[in-house]
Amino acid sequence: MIDSHCHLDPQYFGADRGEVLARARAAGVEAFVCVGVGGGLAAPREAVALAETESDVFATVGVHPHDVAAMQDSDWTYLEELARRPRVVGIGETGLDYHYNHSPPERQQAAYRRFVGMARAAGLAVVSHVRDAHADAAGILRDESAGKGVIHCFSGGVAEARAYLDLGQHLSFSGILTFKNAANLREAAAFAPLDRILIETDAPYLAPIPHRGRKNEPAYIAETMAALAAVRGIPPAEVDAATSENARRLFGLPSPARSADTRSAS
Ligand SMILES: [Zn+2]
Repeated sequence: MIDSHCHLDPQYFGADRGEVLARARAAGVEAFVCVGVGGGLAAPREAVALAETESDVFATVGVHPHDVAAMQDSDWTYLEELARRPRVVGIGETGLDYHYNHSPPERQQAAYRRFVGMARAAGLAVVSHVRDAHADAAGILRDESAGKGVIHCFSGGVAEARAYLDLGQHLSFSGILTFKNAANLREAAAFAPLDRILIETDAPYLAPIPHRGRKNEPAYIAETMAALAAVRGIPPAEVDAATSENARRLFGLPSPARSADTRSAS
């Protein structure tokens, strides 16, 4: 399995990180996409550092929509440079969060447009966080001719799923899929084509049932994969093969058998 979205930098996992990675590997996680956002530019920097240390960890860099109001011009330059590092496979998470509006909507929109453009120019996947803002997010992805990307922690129904799929985006399903009140989401998870879906933990957030309420970690991705397999009525191994292949293609990750030699070439 590939955890296509987790936060592993030191502000979330400190002394326990080695054990957390070991537990995930033992549970069958072959690669981690560590999403570097949070704490200004500390998280992107730390995510890249981790990816440069652990051969199965890859990084994305960005600023969460919550925090874009505090961005300076120099932050953009710094992120553009960081995005050129070989272990960086995506831009984000970026997007729109109208649930909290920690940054004003107009600032979120402007930053999202710019990050989508940055990802397109760099040939990297754009990782989108969207909450209570599906119509505006789809509009920006369309207007900015977004390239490859994923709506992380997708939480909409079939209509929202269709809009993103029509724009060429992937959908990533998290532990929410295991929650009782997520019937609309399960419908969308059954509807989306097998070659456009990913799985993620979003660790340390959103632990799936039966771990709900605890600090989430990549090992728990097995619960989300089982839920996705049940919803689609196919064996977990088939979901695993498809979601892992989709994540490798989207983020340009090395194939498992060749990970050792492609790493130096990437
Ligand atoms: Zn996240």
